Amino acid sequence: MIIEDVPCPFCGCLCDDITLTIKNNRIVGVENCCVLGNAKYLSKQRLKHPIMRKEGKWVEVSFDEAIEETARILSGATRPLLYGWSGTYNEAQVTAVHLAEELGALIDSTTSVCHNPSILAIQEVGHPGCTLGQVKNRADLVIYWGCNPIEAHPRHLSRYTTYADGYFFENTVSDRKVVVVDVRESETAKIADEFIQVKPGGDYLILSALRAMVRGRGDVVPATVAGVKKEQLQRVVDLCQKARYGAVFFGLGVSMTRGKYKNIRNAIELVSELNRKTKFTISAMRGHYNVYGFNEVLTWMAGYPFAVDFSRGIAFYNPGETTVIDVLARKEPDACLVVASDPGAHFPKTCIEHMAAIPTIQIDPCVNPTTALCQVQIPVAITGIEVAGTAYRMDGVPIRMKKVVETEFPTDKQILDRICERVRELNGNG
Ligand code: SF4
Repeated sequence: MIIEDVPCPFCGCLCDDITLTIKNNRIVGVENCCVLGNAKYLSKQRLKHPIMRKEGKWVEVSFDEAIEETARILSGATRPLLYGWSGTYNEAQVTAVHLAEELGALIDSTTSVCHNPSILAIQEVGHPGCTLGQVKNRADLVIYWGCNPIEAHPRHLSRYTTYADGYFFENTVSDRKVVVVDVRESETAKIADEFIQVKPGGDYLILSALRAMVRGRGDVVPATVAGVKKEQLQRVVDLCQKARYGAVFFGLGVSMTRGKYKNIRNAIELVSELNRKTKFTISAMRGHYNVYGFNEVLTWMAGYPFAVDFSRGIAFYNPGETTVIDVLARKEPDACLVVASDPGAHFPKTCIEHMAAIPTIQIDPCVNPTTALCQVQIPVAITGIEVAGTAYRMDGVPIRMKKVVETEFPTDKQILDRICERVRELNGNG
């Protein structure tokens, strides 16, 4: 059986043109996909049963026992932390927020350790964004700043920018210019028309210099800024001002370096400045395929996009205080539920040590570095392959993920619904 137009459940591009060949309820062929998505579709590794540590050893347990233990741990905790959510679908994320409210828990997502500063900047100065379709069909200048899509979002260039056909272009490869700003010559930098190599931590200075030059105040810019010659900056300003439609894409190389959200605020203000002369937009390169979706769901339900603390009985949001790294570094949580992410592979050592010291539960189809920190792990169906659901692409466009094979594994939502129901019973609210 051939299934066409399947959205890929890997990165924020959510490419929805994948063709899958299914034989005996297994994916045996993948077309149009990049190497990252391909690996996910064809992976055979997964956890087959829920597991629990008993007397220091992992033992296989039933779903009922794993759910009961999870509900018992979470309802008995005074400062539970619910973390992850970017690799699951919106319908499961809705249940997660209900569970957080019921528990009076702190709920945060992987946004907290990636585009958290970008969201703070957008909250301050707004977001002149656009859809990827607009970029594909209109943008004659693309700037990749602090990101390397050829390796992290491999089809971004072929679907939406450099190598994508555009409605208003005769020949996109020659008519579209690409500028890359980075601290090293990445694979994406190698195909750029102009590569600005910034000294680490120098993004804010470069953005300020470009803003001044666009404003016509190039006289205040010194001969070299953060290792970049003024002549090169002037060339980039000329490219920007000549463009009919410019699109800036930025990654963690600028949002998570020195300056953090001030860098993004400066970048947005540069784009606003350019919009006085031509059309310009700016967008974040979101990583997990549904990290944007969690920001949407939590905003609908609690009013804030990440790092919401329900311990006061209301939604309280104060990044720097209620963000996952900060609460773990202060050793506040006394229980932790991790869903659809892998903090064990990415968090600082102090945070991982605390997660290992408290009861931590993971809901995830696969064994990963977080498993080593856990008391319980519950395997689930894989969203976008074994279960349908909604996810938000990096430009905020919702896309319906498809179910392409049958599975006996429960979905994230089914497991979370059962945990939520049991927590309510244990709390006397059932
Ligand atoms: Fe999947 Fe991202 Fe590759 Fe597209 S670019 S096929 S969404 S991993």
